[in-house]
Amino acid sequence: MYHHVKKLMYTVNVGNPDPAFGNMLLEQFGGANGELAAAMQYSVQGLNCDDPERKDLLMDIGTEELSHLEIVGTLAKMHLKPMKKNRSAAEADPLIAIAGGGGVGLFNSMGNAWTADYLKVTGELDVDLRSNIAAEARAKIVYERLINFTDDSGSIDALKFLMTREITHMKAFMAALDSMGKGPLEIGKIPPDPTWVNKYMDDSTGEGDRGEINARGPWNEGGDWKIVEAPAFKTFRQLAENGSQASTSATSLKTRPTKAGRKGAR
Ligand code: MN
Ligand code: MN
Repeated sequence: MYHHVKKLMYTVNVGNPDPAFGNMLLEQFGGANGELAAAMQYSVQGLNCDDPERKDLLMDIGTEELSHLEIVGTLAKMHLKPMKKNRSAAEADPLIAIAGGGGVGLFNSMGNAWTADYLKVTGELDVDLRSNIAAEARAKIVYERLINFTDDSGSIDALKFLMTREITHMKAFMAALDSMGKGPLEIGKIPPDPTWVNKYMDDSTGEGDRGEINARGPWNEGGDWKIVEAPAFKTFRQLAENGSQASTSATSLKTRPTKAGRKGAR
């Protein structure tokens, strides 16, 4: 059951309306990482959730996101207001000015309509919680960028509140995932194939002109990791090692892999 209380969750003040900034704010109103997407994602996940405790969490945060939508919508509307009458202000967002009469619409900052395709709902609680942690991180960084693009103290104040709440949600989703007691790589029930799971395919070679390197780190070495060097060249290398016609390929493989590859394939 939803009930509208005629108060904002956080007070919004705008000193100097800035229509171009109002247009940017729409990213958090009708954009991929915006408040409507968050509200719908968590609420739909909540409706599908059979775990009563985590369902409560999903519905609580889903509902809070609707209150965030109200805040960011109010803030955007205040910034967009001059475009109701002023031609140069209207140029900041003709779609909103001409079709929407200077009010907020469910579009992102580029005028693309909001879509349910933004939502990540898998029906697997731990997988959904991971999506939510990532969604909160994206929302946080979008708010941070918005804060960096305005000097209006009232706007910064409200945006900092919204930004902070995303970290709070992230914290709650992380704790909820942790409380499920599943290992970080335990997704679903079928175990991964041990032949393949620890192989790191090093699918690039050499160094680039702009300092690109072939890196080693805990993501590909140490522990159970086994590096498979340039698996795509493996066939040619094997041909080369077998001698005969392929030995020419072996020499050229070191310097000109593509040409050698073609030759080896003959
Ligand atoms: Mn939010
Ligand atoms: Mn959130």
